[in-house]
Amino acid sequence: MKAIVLDAEWAPRPGYTPSPRELQSRKATMASQVLRHPRFVPMEVPDPTPAHGQVLLKVRACGVCGSDTHCYEHDADGYVLFSGPVRVPVTVGHEYTAEVLEVAPGVRNLRPGMLVAAEGMLYCGVCEACRTGHPNQCPDLDMVGFSSPGAYAEYIAASERFLWSLDPLAERLGSADRALELGALIEPIACSYNGMFVSAGGFAPGGNVVVFGCGPIGLGAIALARAAGAASVLAFETIPERRAVAEAMGADGVYDPREAPAAEIIRDRTRGWGADMMVEAAGAAVQTMPQIERAFAPGGKMVYLGRTGLRAPVMLDVLVTQAASIAGARGHAGGGCFPRILRLMEAERLHVEPMITRRFPFARTLEAVATSCDRTDGKILLRYD
Ligand SMILES: [Zn+2]
Ligand SMILES: [Zn+2]
Repeated sequence: MKAIVLDAEWAPRPGYTPSPRELQSRKATMASQVLRHPRFVPMEVPDPTPAHGQVLLKVRACGVCGSDTHCYEHDADGYVLFSGPVRVPVTVGHEYTAEVLEVAPGVRNLRPGMLVAAEGMLYCGVCEACRTGHPNQCPDLDMVGFSSPGAYAEYIAASERFLWSLDPLAERLGSADRALELGALIEPIACSYNGMFVSAGGFAPGGNVVVFGCGPIGLGAIALARAAGAASVLAFETIPERRAVAEAMGADGVYDPREAPAAEIIRDRTRGWGADMMVEAAGAAVQTMPQIERAFAPGGKMVYLGRTGLRAPVMLDVLVTQAASIAGARGHAGGGCFPRILRLMEAERLHVEPMITRRFPFARTLEAVATSCDRTDGKILLRYD
């Protein structure tokens, strides 16, 4: 079958010593420390065979993720930007929906012809992190499209425990096609859901929500804030095209944070109260934290979803005076994220279609990934015949 494969050189940075486990498995725990000179190569690879408990899937749609872009791009020293686990060579792509073709023994509920959305965090399920409700922190985590074969391919094999049926959504919308596209958005939206509602504990209806960064994670946060009953949703984004998408998603005010200090705008727009929940999806903590620390409402929360290796000073005294809290999160597994987002979609209570700003056929995947480097789109989707 045709696939887009990420390859790179194993060349640990000076000063970084890979663990014995990394050396033995050739899985870099932090790709950005080890993998150099990445390239995306279209090639023929063997068709996957579903193991016990797995199904063979025909991929129908797949989102281009910022993490894919971070494996395609490299820093000044040639290292990939992505800091998660990667084992090369690997077929890329993880935000996918698909049709079940074949069912191996041990599969309980899936049948050929069903449509599914897939989780991309392959947690082990038996370690202490997994068994205490932290599957995204599983030390044995594999990630589809990074350390396990991905969906920039015609077919993929996946375990039933990572798949959710899209059939009720397709039925509700009267369109398999729309369900396949919306389903491919669940993974990035679930990262926002996990951060806002699982890790940070959510906000009360009527609260003010502020989102920093309007890439897919920030856009998902805007839609979720609306669905969860926010009284106002404000967003900050430097790229004009993404500000326009944030507006289409239902944000009440979208600002360029370089034009005026975000904290002042937030105080002004909330009549002095501040933000009950702030979502940092910009990965620009050095710039956003000085604003965030001045914008907490009493009891306000912030969740950090962006990534940066830089230290950002924070005046922690504000956590005392405002009884505020800072949470962090990664991933989309567990916490009911996938099924609850699906239910919101089935009830047509999650307004996310404006997120999809561009579509490419699978045959033009490389062009789609190159386009993602502009960072002007919401979500770029690949469609497969
Ligand atoms: Zn993703
Ligand atoms: Zn585990």
